[in-house]
Amino acid sequence: MTPNAEFGYELLVCRYAELAWHPSDGPRDQPRPTLVARQLGTKERRWDTVVIEVDPAAFAARRAFGDRTIDSDLLHVVRNAPAEWAWYRDALPHPGYPWRYVRQAVHRAAGRSLIEKRRRNNRIQLRRKRPYPDWIERIVAIENKPDLDRSAADRLADQLVHDVETGLADEAWLATETTGERVEPALLREMPVEAGILATDFSGGVDADAADVAWHPSDLGPAEGERRDPETETLRLEIAERAYGKGWRSYHDTMRPDCRHFELRREDRALVPYCAAKEKVPTSRECSGSCASFSPEPPQWRTNGWPIEGGPGKGFKRVLARRRERERDRAESVE
Ligand code: SF4
Repeated sequence: MTPNAEFGYELLVCRYAELAWHPSDGPRDQPRPTLVARQLGTKERRWDTVVIEVDPAAFAARRAFGDRTIDSDLLHVVRNAPAEWAWYRDALPHPGYPWRYVRQAVHRAAGRSLIEKRRRNNRIQLRRKRPYPDWIERIVAIENKPDLDRSAADRLADQLVHDVETGLADEAWLATETTGERVEPALLREMPVEAGILATDFSGGVDADAADVAWHPSDLGPAEGERRDPETETLRLEIAERAYGKGWRSYHDTMRPDCRHFELRREDRALVPYCAAKEKVPTSRECSGSCASFSPEPPQWRTNGWPIEGGPGKGFKRVLARRRERERDRAESVE
């Protein structure tokens, strides 16, 4: 299968997760509240699809901090900001890097209204506007491999073993397409037993019935009574924050919706980018500034019917942003 098809498959898996997470749950009409993102992780390991299961009330509290990612420097400030005014060096734990970077982060956080700051006796003081909530319930990593062959299975097995060992995610899955047939059992036996196998069949569309659990995953979280180390917890929070700010539809950040050939197509119930010039789903790498077929949307598109808000490129971005917003609302409204 081509990289394009893999990219399209990844979007379908994201859409499925958004519609029907968790696949092992009984009644399909009660999905868990989730946020779905793609291509996130750490320096060592990037996951294809990331599902963040959220606590709805705490998630609503997170939304009060705005729609953008709170990056690691800002998190240090926002999570530790005191209820009462205090000098930032008294209030915040030493970050392990120079204070001047913390000061910059305090200014940035105040600029985004995440905290309040003031100057007293030539010192910067801060206080929180609201507590930063504990909104992440579980983090689930999914590797997507529509056509699982021997070499892909070997590679994926190594990656999933890494996920099992690091315990950064609470659950790890392999999603693979079956199109009505069973997944090759010999290949599945290669996978670590802790990883779940999601057998998808998107030929009839993306809905809650488009996937079955071929193997149930184990919980990779700490044993009862134990906790993750603070470094791992911080990494998880950073991943979740990036997922929150990015979502899975953010391929418009890396692709060229301002190209006249760029289209969004409805593939079943998912929106998939499509290049009319190449007549296929382009990868992010193809659909970039260096694409030889890139052709800027004609200026008249911007003036004819799109007078103020830009041309179709901007329109696509708005559609995707609106959908992202709607999914955040959905995650919040689930009881
Ligand atoms: S021509 Fe290139 S830049 Fe334009 S939509 Fe196709 S892949 Fe993207």
